[in-house]
Amino acid sequence: MDLPYKGKATQNAGPNNQFGVGMVRLNLVIPCFNEEDVLPETTRRLLALLEELVGDGMIDSSSSITYVDDGSHDRTWVLIEGFHTTDPRVHGIKLSRNHGHQNALLAGLLSVEGDVLISLDADLQDDLAAIPRMMAEFRNGAEIVFGVRDRRDTDSFFKRFSARSYYRLLRRFGVNVLQDHADFRLMSRRAIEELRGFREVNLFLRGIVPLLGLHTAIVKYDRHARFAGKSKYPLIKMIMLASDGVTSFSTKPLQWSTYVGGVLSLASLSFGLWALSVRLLTDRSVPGWASTVVPMYFLGGLQLLFLGVIGGYVAKIYAETKQRPRFIVEKTLQRRARPSASPGGSLPDSGTMRPVSAGRDYEAAEQRSCETS
Ligand code: UDP
Ligand code: MG
Repeated sequence: MDLPYKGKATQNAGPNNQFGVGMVRLNLVIPCFNEEDVLPETTRRLLALLEELVGDGMIDSSSSITYVDDGSHDRTWVLIEGFHTTDPRVHGIKLSRNHGHQNALLAGLLSVEGDVLISLDADLQDDLAAIPRMMAEFRNGAEIVFGVRDRRDTDSFFKRFSARSYYRLLRRFGVNVLQDHADFRLMSRRAIEELRGFREVNLFLRGIVPLLGLHTAIVKYDRHARFAGKSKYPLIKMIMLASDGVTSFSTKPLQWSTYVGGVLSLASLSFGLWALSVRLLTDRSVPGWASTVVPMYFLGGLQLLFLGVIGGYVAKIYAETKQRPRFIVEKTLQRRARPSASPGGSLPDSGTMRPVSAGRDYEAAEQRSCETS
């Protein structure tokens, strides 16, 4: 799903990111799947938070909340419609069916307006007190602020254990994920537009967002218990998300078959030499044994080896079909000539920072610039 953002940034001035000063329009993006039990309380708390931030002069009064209904079967959408009627700051996006948390979140991020988007869960597990701190980091120039759990004692032992093992496994596969960061994060308009360039279907945002680079910051928070209702992430969904995380970012499992195949072929070769020496040097050899067993191992190893080679090419196809942007330029400094600046010729006047998106999405990228002098 791709609903292009058409809005414009509210302000375009500031030292680090383009919203260093002035009011920013915040949009809180919340995917919801059967969350009727929590939504009234979540809405009450989030609206109160928006008021507080507007009162503190941190955000613009046009800031809003967007719920993405991920094909709920309960009254979630009816509730969202009701909130919208009573308070126009609450917006809603309804997906055609259950597309899964990551896709629902992406649908929200790519379709809503706002200079700054913060994604969080509907169940109030993410600490709302961290949001003003995230905004402060944004004011300091961060384009992405990751919410990182300080403690996990509200999670069950199984959840803690599985999460820890999973992060360890991902790192072993060479995937760059932030330990204990889920999807509670702030992204600037700039970061969102870069995220649009990642067009893969197997979506694992926790792995993709760190790939954007840009100026990032971390805000630690205590994870609360779910306010009401049950977790919408049963074990099977967790395993699917985990497998998406591995297969979207690592081709190591494919390489492994080459290694295993190589080792097996070598081992069976030495095995063959040993069998031959038994046959030639002793009278303990069993007729027909070596000629049956050794080729079996050897061919098995050879098959794995070439499966690995094919895997290498499949991995390349896999990387190509994803068509990720090949690089993201954070900023460029261009020198503008000042014709009569000095007798010796032109001197640099002021640098123009022109953040551009690169690669095949270059034309689509919004050109934003800010003057530095
Ligand atoms: N969610 C969703 N689609 C799904 C599963 C979950 O939009 O298919 C939402 C859910 O409503 C919640 C967030 O994703 O806002 C995180 O889910 P949950 O709190 O159940 O996960 P847990 O915290 O137990 O890992
Ligand atoms: Mg939760």
